[in-house]
Parts: sequence; C-alpha cells; structure tokens
Amino acid sequence: MVFDVLIIGGGVAGMQCALVLGSAKSKPFVTDKNIGIIINQRASHLQNALFKNVLGLEPSTLGKDILESGKKHLSELYPHVHQIETEKVTAVLDNENSLYKIITNKNIYLSSKVVIALNYSKPFLIEGLMQYLEPHMRANPAKDRVQLRNFNHLIKEGLYACGTIAGWRSQFAIAAGSGASVATDILTDWNDGNHTKIHDKI
Ligand SMILES: Cc1cc2nc3c(=O)[nH]c(=O)nc-3n(C[C@H](O)[C@H](O)[C@H](O)COP(=O)(O)OP(=O)(O)OC[C@H]3O[C@@H](n4cnc5c(N)ncnc54)[C@H](O)[C@@H]3O)c2cc1C
Repeated sequence: MVFDVLIIGGGVAGMQCALVLGSAKSKPFVTDKNIGIIINQRASHLQNALFKNVLGLEPSTLGKDILESGKKHLSELYPHVHQIETEKVTAVLDNENSLYKIITNKNIYLSSKVVIALNYSKPFLIEGLMQYLEPHMRANPAKDRVQLRNFNHLIKEGLYACGTIAGWRSQFAIAAGSGASVATDILTDWNDGNHTKIHDKI
C-alpha cells in the first residue's frame, strides 16, 4: 500500500497526529491524501500510566483506557485514516521516487511522508534511523533515554519525529502537542506553505 503519510506509533503523539490529520478531510488539499497509522500499542507508556494532571482528562483516567478510546475515536470520526494494528516496524528506508519504504514484521509499505511517534525507551532498533539516534536532551541521563536528531520535529525532508522520541519531556500534554504540531506542519506543506490548522465550531 502507498501512503501520502504514514504515522508509526499508536501512543499519545501518534494518535493525536492522526486525529488532526484525519479531521482535515474536507480540505481540498487533503481529500485525495492517503493517511495511515501503524497503531501497535504494546510498548506504549500509556499501558501503566494514571492521569490526574491533564487538562480535559477526567482525573484518574487510565492510560490503557486511552489506548482503546483513542483508536475508537479515530475510527468513528475519521474512518478514512487506515489503522494498521499490531505490526512492529523494523526499518524505515529511503526508496526511489521520493518515497520511504517502511518494513514491518508482516508487510512493506511506501509513503511520501513518515512520522516517527515511537517513545524514548531503549532498545531502539529501527534500521534506517540509527544514524539520527542520540542521547535524550530532556530526560535524566541515568535513565539512558534516546531521541532522534531533528529541527522543529523535522529529521529530513518528509521524515518527522514527534513526542518523546523528538526530544520532549515525558508529559501527556507535551507529547500530544508535539503530534498535533507535526500534523499541522504536514497540512501546511500540503496547502502550498499556507499556515493551516483545523478547528470545529459550534
Ligand atoms: C507509569 C507512567 C505514568 C505516567 N504518568 C503521567 C502523568 O501522570 N502525567 C503526564 O502528563 N504524563 C505521564 N506519563 C507520561 C506519558 O504517558 C508519556 O509522556 C506519553 O505516553 C509519551 O507519548 P509518546 O507518544 O511519546 O510515547 P508512547 O505513548 O509510549 O507511544 C509510543 C508508541 O510507539 C509504539 N511502538 C514502539 N516501538 C514500535 C515499533 N517498533 N513499531 C511500531 N510501534 C512501536 C508503542 O507501542 C506506542 O504505541 C506517565 C508515563 C508512565 C510510563
């Protein structure tokens, strides 16, 4: 399958990125775009988290419930976003015709843009990305966390990082904001560089 954008990672940053991209469907520069997310959630930091300090989340919301409700939210409101479940990405490689080749344990995908929304935990073993790996700038060095070298989320043309793997501190709101930020960067690019955001109104 060939995508215009493929998000890798189904945690906070990845799902928020997918929701903003999905919500732009009616825009003329998005209607023909094929958007996907590899929504493997086994290694998400949400699995064990409990949230009392996130605006808009009911205090004591469980992270594992957000993993489920996030997928449902995405499929009910934006079913055109392809959710690829349970596959584990092993490589993100440069390919011909300005496409990236994304290899999982089950399939191979091609995509013009790729958003890396994995987290900052080691081991990080994704072929094609190892040259961008560096120590995390905003985490306790004793924890040995990692990030992908980027400038304002952009690793290189068409390749983005968001959430903790982009070098942000591990807080739900920061990861979500980072995913939303990358989504609006991509929408702005698709909109010929005109700054773009997606708002619903009453
Ligand atoms: C125990 C705990 C408690 C916390 N409590 C709070 C709190 O009270 N308040 C707060 O603000 N924050 C809290 N956090 C932090 C918050 O959960 C994280 O900041 C947030 O989850 C980071 O989002 P992320 O998208 O960077 O990573 P994640 O949410 O971890 O998402 C990364 C995704 O990448 C996927 N993935 C990994 N490897 C692969 C692969 N090879 N192929 C495909 N997919 C892959 C994972 O399965 C996961 O879905 C807590 C975290 C933990 C662990």
